[in-house]
Amino acid sequence: MNTAVVEQLPEVVMPACPILKVLKGQRALVTGANSGIGKGIAIALGHAGADVVVNYVNGEETAEGVVEDIQRCGSRSFAHRADVSKEAEVHAMFERMKEEFGTIDILVNNAGLQKDAPFDQMTLDQWNFVLGVNLTGQFLCAREAVREFKRRGVRREVSCSAGKIICISSVHEVIPWAGHVNYAASKGGVMMMMKSIAQEVAPYRIRVNSICPGAIRTPINRAAWESPEAYADLLKLIPYKRIGEVDDIGRAAVWLASDDADYVHGISLFVDGGMTLYPGFEAGG
Ligand code: NAP
Repeated sequence: MNTAVVEQLPEVVMPACPILKVLKGQRALVTGANSGIGKGIAIALGHAGADVVVNYVNGEETAEGVVEDIQRCGSRSFAHRADVSKEAEVHAMFERMKEEFGTIDILVNNAGLQKDAPFDQMTLDQWNFVLGVNLTGQFLCAREAVREFKRRGVRREVSCSAGKIICISSVHEVIPWAGHVNYAASKGGVMMMMKSIAQEVAPYRIRVNSICPGAIRTPINRAAWESPEAYADLLKLIPYKRIGEVDDIGRAAVWLASDDADYVHGISLFVDGGMTLYPGFEAGG
């Protein structure tokens, strides 16, 4: 890496609030929306004109902060506590959303976590916990959303499609990750779940895609960016030579949810600064 060039790169400054309300009239649910990527997506969707349900499981106070931010931009929003790995709680969350907003147009399946361990020390509880939230949680929410999309159909005044699902996967749906076997398996599962749902529901004009973030600056990976040494190590994995910010994912989600992406279906959109480009081969094989 040429560090002299990297140090000269300007700070990334994002526009605060898009002027075009491309999601006006749409209702969105973002799981795990009180922190990190989910928070960034919820605020981006709200700023783009969507009404947003902010799901959380522990962080009520931070969830209410996200709600206020969305409301300041003129969109409706409320926070709802639900563990996405629990069928009854997911069902109740969708029922409340239908009561308060009437329906759902956009689901962002974001809630996720890690419980890392060397493979031979990984407990069944660690395996089940990660698969339960990261994969089963996405299944339960996607199933509720598809039921409502199919019941309601297309409302042309709102969107060309009957509904959109965006699964937050990871570069680890394709990059193996030693010490994180449960996490990588969950994201590989999200990839095939997303593509299989996409194939099945396309005739109903329901669009299903994934966003696969690379390294994004959030609490989940604090150890990888908070010290200069760790950050320098991280940059070895990123050809674009900067960590991703939650706004990078928020803007991608707004586009994918909008009719500008109406013919985009069943894809994994990698938003990773080139992390999946085999950066170890940067200087030749
Ligand atoms: P984060 O800041 O730790 O946020 C995780 C979110 O998930 C929190 O809002 C948390 O809610 C929620 N959550 C956890 N368990 C839940 C459950 N059972 N039910 C409902 N919500 C639950 O992490 P993040 O980095 O933003 O990660 C968000 C997603 O992006 C995850 O799917 C992750 O795998 C993916 N991702 C992240 C990166 C990255 O570099 N950051 C890269 C690739 C993919 P509470 O705070 O209320 O517990």
